[in-house]
Formats: sequence, C-alpha cells, structure tokens
Amino acid sequence: MIPAGFDYHAPRSVADALKLLGDLGPEAKLLAGGHSLLPMMKLRFAAPTALIDLGKISELRGIEQAGNEIRIGAMTTENDLLRSKLLADKVPLLVEGVAWIADPQVRYKGTIGGDISHADPGNDHPALMLALDASFVLTGAKGQRVVKADGYFLGVYSTQIEPGEILTQIRVPIPAAGTGWSYQKLKRKTGDFATAASAVLLQMKGGKVAKASIALTNLAATPLKAREAESFLVGKPINENNLSEAARLAMDITDPAQCQRGSPDYKTAMCGEMTRRALQAAAARAK
Ligand code: FAD
Repeated sequence: MIPAGFDYHAPRSVADALKLLGDLGPEAKLLAGGHSLLPMMKLRFAAPTALIDLGKISELRGIEQAGNEIRIGAMTTENDLLRSKLLADKVPLLVEGVAWIADPQVRYKGTIGGDISHADPGNDHPALMLALDASFVLTGAKGQRVVKADGYFLGVYSTQIEPGEILTQIRVPIPAAGTGWSYQKLKRKTGDFATAASAVLLQMKGGKVAKASIALTNLAATPLKAREAESFLVGKPINENNLSEAARLAMDITDPAQCQRGSPDYKTAMCGEMTRRALQAAAARAK
C-alpha cells in the first residue's frame, strides 16, 4: 500500500528539530531509519501529517567514551554499533545483540534510537538496555532529562517519552572488567524478530555468581528484568540445578502473546532455554 500524504522536513540541528516538533504538533512524527515507521505508514497504521527526518543531524550520531560510560547518539545505525571497536572492547553484549537484529539492509539504516523509541516488544535493544542498566537522554524545548531504561517501557509501542521530546543519546555504563556476557535469541529465520531472547551479564568470584543481570525480549508487552532469577543466582555456582531454577524463575514472569512464532507456552519454554544458554555462555566468558 502507498502511505497517506505527508510533508517532509530535514532539519540540520536538534534545536531546529525541536522547533519543528513544537510548531507541527502531535500529528508530526520523527523519522530515523524508517524501518519500523515506514512499514506502519504503508499499512496505514500510522498516518502522520509530517515527517521530521533526523538523518541530517550529525550531532545525533556517534559512539564515545565519557568516564565510565559509553555515550551513543540516537541516530547511530546498527551497522555503526556492529563495527565499533570501542563497543566490542567495552560493551561486547551490545555488539552481540545487534548482530542478531534483522539483516544487513535493515541494520544499515535502522538506528538504536529508533529501535528503542518504537518499543516493539520484539525489538532487541530494549532488553539489551535493561540488562546493561542504560539511561536515555530525552531532549525537549525546556531542556534535557535522563531516564533509566528500567521503567522506560510502558507497553506495546509506549514509553515515557513526552510529546515534543526527542531521544538524543543512550548512556551505557561500562560493565566491570571480567564480566561475562551473552545474548541468546531464538528466531525462525534471518531477518525475523525473536521468538524469545535473553540478555545476560554475569560477574563471577571464586566460582560463584557475584552479580547477575538478566533481561528478556518478546516475552511480554515490554522487555522484562528477571530479578528473582538474578538474586537466586548470587552466591551460587553455575551448575545444572541452579541453571534450571534460574530458567524457571525467568519463565515465571513471562506473559507472551500468541502469534505466528508460537503459543505462549512454547515461547515461555524457549525463554527458559535461551536464559539457560545465555547464563552458560556468560559464565564461560566471565573472568
Ligand atoms: P523509525 O522506523 O524511523 O522510527 C520508529 C519510531 O521511533 C517512530 O515512531 C519514530 O517517530 C520514533 N523515533 C525514531 N527516532 C526517534 C528519536 N530519536 N526520538 C524519539 N522518537 C524516535 N528490530 C529488532 O530489534 N530486531 C529484529 O530482529 C528486527 N527485525 C526486523 C526485520 C525487518 C524485516 C524489519 C523491516 C525491521 C526489523 N526490526 C528489528 C526493526 C528495525 O530494527 C527498525 O530499524 C527499528 O525498530 C526502528 O528503528 P528506525 O531507526 O528504523 O526508526
């Protein structure tokens, strides 16, 4: 289908984009990589009267270290993340997660800011951001606010962002040296969204878990933090019994929707399996 008609604007700065957002009102939409918004417009699920393309705003693109965190511009593409030596060195979980997103064509245009803002339960960045304890910089006409990823996602396509705000930067704390990581994602074929996926960070001390972070993709309307599984593991070795219990505790918090990828029961079972595999892989990488 062809989208409904719209005006097109391509500002060169965040200030100009904010001005346009204010002037054009809630019927205008921000355009990032377009790989979620344009399909929705073609299906007429979305019919914005104007698009404000962020693609020409260079200040929104880039990856840099600032003290103990990595700062990523919202318009940084998945391909940029995948090729970043800084990220591979400091936050390898993010690079591993990005490699599972869609296919090279989508990753070339799709952006981290668009993926987070779209808040599709199937999108991978939201759970990766929860696992990494990331924060988001939201910029509006009156200034900036920084909000935690934990609590940011309110429901399907719904976040804490307010009308008139732009997600401008993603801040990711650098995990402690020696932290193990893994993103395990079951998908039916290349380019598909997750049937179930689990993101894990693990710190080990003396053969036992010192700290665990576990977040789940596409297992509810929002990404989930598996807090009970995390606390259960602390002080315990990664062995068969503890893996099974942690997987069970993760499965306990899921509420997946029925879709062509499978029934809620199947997806919940796959949540357990992805969590078990991610914990095993992260433990093997932890130093
Ligand atoms: P757009 O589509 O341009 O925008 C998406 C939404 O976010 C719009 O509502 C827009 O207004 C808003 N927005 C964008 N940027 C900002 C901002 N800076 N501030 C505030 N609001 C903003 N994703 C996955 O995570 N995993 C997958 O496996 C996966 N598979 C895919 C397979 C296919 C075939 C396709 C087409 C897409 C797939 N995607 C997947 C989605 C893809 O990653 C999209 O690129 C992503 O969801 C949206 O990013 P975008 O930059 O394209 O944003």
